[in-house]
Amino acid sequence: MATILRMAKKQLEEAIPFANIDTESWERLQHPARIIECSIPCRHDDGTLKIYKAYRCQFDTTLGPAKGGIRYHPSVDRDHVEALAFWMTFKCAALKLPFGGAKGGISVDATKLSHRELERISRLYVDSFHDILGPDQDVAAPDMYTDERVMGWMYDEYKLIKGGHPKDFITGKPVALGGLEERKVSTGYGGYFVLEKLIKDYWKQKRMEAVTVAIQGFGKVGYWFAEKCWKEDVKVIAISNEYGGAHCLTGVNPEQCRNLLGPTGGKDWSEVHKLYGHEPISNDELLLMDVDVLVPAAVENVITDQNASKIKAKIILELANGPTTPEADTILNDRGVWVVPDIIANAGGVVVSYFEWLQNRHAEERTSDQIMAGLRYKLDYATTKMMERHLSKGMSLRTAAYALALKRLGEAKEALGTKDYFRPSNC
Ligand code: NAD
Repeated sequence: MATILRMAKKQLEEAIPFANIDTESWERLQHPARIIECSIPCRHDDGTLKIYKAYRCQFDTTLGPAKGGIRYHPSVDRDHVEALAFWMTFKCAALKLPFGGAKGGISVDATKLSHRELERISRLYVDSFHDILGPDQDVAAPDMYTDERVMGWMYDEYKLIKGGHPKDFITGKPVALGGLEERKVSTGYGGYFVLEKLIKDYWKQKRMEAVTVAIQGFGKVGYWFAEKCWKEDVKVIAISNEYGGAHCLTGVNPEQCRNLLGPTGGKDWSEVHKLYGHEPISNDELLLMDVDVLVPAAVENVITDQNASKIKAKIILELANGPTTPEADTILNDRGVWVVPDIIANAGGVVVSYFEWLQNRHAEERTSDQIMAGLRYKLDYATTKMMERHLSKGMSLRTAAYALALKRLGEAKEALGTKDYFRPSNC
């Protein structure tokens, strides 16, 4: 079993003793409802035809239509989409959203495709999967290497096949096609709201403005989280991406850094290092910095049994999916470090996607203030529920979040009848 899938299943197992879930419902949650694999033949600009493997996994749809992104990356395979769909299932359940969990993708290096090839492959994805996608079946969204333009092409293709204006087919669309302006900041800002709730109501060792933060990953999620910290006077003292990083004790200005990193996509950090007090830092060094809050916002498996015992942060806010291995989790929990799990910490994106789906369904418009208030409300609620379980039952934050999600999923499955209900003496 691929590491990422093993990791996902292990996280669930730890929550079972606390979840009080019926054994049949638990058994059903061990297996994805369906995984479909297609071959996509894409004509390239030079005339050649290349075949790409594409996937959609709907892990569970007990609580509503499946919901999850579409990722373009060479590492995409069956196990990968299953693990990501599994996390989406528990994220939606923990946040009390009316969705199940899904994920899809194409095994492709999107950085090597021309704009025309990217459009073609995106439309072909919809051509292959349109029968199982849809506003009441499975609502797709962007993920790594897919953006709002890709969502726009996919919406347009679905519209051509099905007719009408099914804007609620996909979220993360361009604003002009029914998307929400707030979607781009939602995961980063959502992570900030979770952290603020935790620091103010539970950690209480420092004021929010006195907390220090280090962020690994300076993409869509890491940047907007850093920007929100800057706006709220919370000091981010280090940032990094896959090519390098900067460390400044008086605080890093994210916008200035982003402008200096420029159109290279953050490959050249030399201009950032010219700023007063900004020293180069590697990714490995950043993870071990003496900060209050460490924020992995890049890729999976960066916090492992190799570095967990050396991490000095007191809180880890998982904005990436799956950044901490189960072995590292055990080490950190034993040391009393709070690891705020991805299914709560990075749920801001799916909450705002839910608002977009609702708005498209009802052809109505919400104000930005309403969307932000709704985002904060949902994340405050989930954080409170997770912390109540953590404090009353002594379980890790991750186990508390999974137990919360399992309870909701279990209740919905049990509502349809269990072994006890259907036993011969009852029927
Ligand atoms: P992105 O592609 O915009 O940014 C990724 C960032 O990580 C880039 O700065 C990249 O340079 C950096 N990175 C890549 N490999 C790295 C490495 N080995 N070491 C250090 N940095 C590295 O992606 P994103 O949308 O910001 O997503 C980041 C993470 O957050 C992913 O795990 C994604 O699944 C998760 N996530 C994203 C959203 C969303 O709304 N975008 C929602 C939930 C979860």
